[in-house]
Amino acid sequence: MLEVHSLVKKFGDYTAVDHLSFEIQPGSILGLIGQNGAGKTTTFRLILDFIQADEGKVLWNGQVIGEKDYNIIGYLPEERGLYPKLTIEEQLLFFAELRGKSRKEIAPQIDDWLDRFQVKGRKTDKVQTLSKGNQQKVQLIATLIHQPKLVILDEPFSGLDPVNAQIMKNAIIQLRQANACVIFSSHNMDNVEQICDQLIMLKNGKTVLKGNVQEIRESFGRSRLYLEGDYSSYHFEKMPGVEKVEVRNAHLTVLHLSNPEIGKEIFQLVTKDGYIPMFNQQPPTLEEIFKMKAGAENE
Ligand code: ATP
Repeated sequence: MLEVHSLVKKFGDYTAVDHLSFEIQPGSILGLIGQNGAGKTTTFRLILDFIQADEGKVLWNGQVIGEKDYNIIGYLPEERGLYPKLTIEEQLLFFAELRGKSRKEIAPQIDDWLDRFQVKGRKTDKVQTLSKGNQQKVQLIATLIHQPKLVILDEPFSGLDPVNAQIMKNAIIQLRQANACVIFSSHNMDNVEQICDQLIMLKNGKTVLKGNVQEIRESFGRSRLYLEGDYSSYHFEKMPGVEKVEVRNAHLTVLHLSNPEIGKEIFQLVTKDGYIPMFNQQPPTLEEIFKMKAGAENE
């Protein structure tokens, strides 16, 4: 288990990480979100012991984390760092050896890993001949090939197309099954919502959201109502409890409700003639919540 206790990191007068606390149980995934400069990468560097905290501590299985834990950690840094002139195979063997694995053990596994991640290239190809997305997948393999128990991924989805992002998501979900503790940062709220067990949002180093993704969403109330069909004649905007009517396209209308209870009344109204293709009352999406929280800061 990873435990982070009241971490503080200052750069001069600026507090980049401000009393951050959380824990990650084995087989669980934590998403770290926040605007640029919120403190995500600094948090990772503190956990990895690359930089020294001003206050607080990080424990791995009850002990202060340090060099002794190096071989159980898999870290995908924000600045990707492969050696362009090495072949894929040499690269992966090099990183595995750094984490205490033998070439003999790892070499026979490489084809399977390249297959699993659908890397477009042979293991004898030099890294510099691969596209950016494929290089990123090779780097993720390098992060995971020694089967780490603590996995830290700094923006693993950046630069990946939807198919490769899905491969990345599947790989992260499999880490849960392998009982690893996983923490990753992302600016893509859909990905965070889909794969995280819990999330933390940082704002200027401070924790502004923390908990289970669905519970966080529900805490904002079911204030979004998605209706499919033509409701242009319904004049919802005049109804008390309706804050805003958003016509997304000819088929989809989204009502923003200041009073979620009004949903029942709207249901009666829109179904008075029978079947409608969609009536879906939801809490705001994580992306909407993120913007609300980020906006609150800017005010
Ligand atoms: P992004 O989403 O852009 O990657 P982030 O959330 O990872 O951002 P950090 O890189 O952790 O943000 O930076 C947090 C703050 O700390 C920023 O204001 C940054 O300028 C500052 N910072 C980070 N490293 C240093 C450093 N070595 N010296 C001084 N300030 C730093």
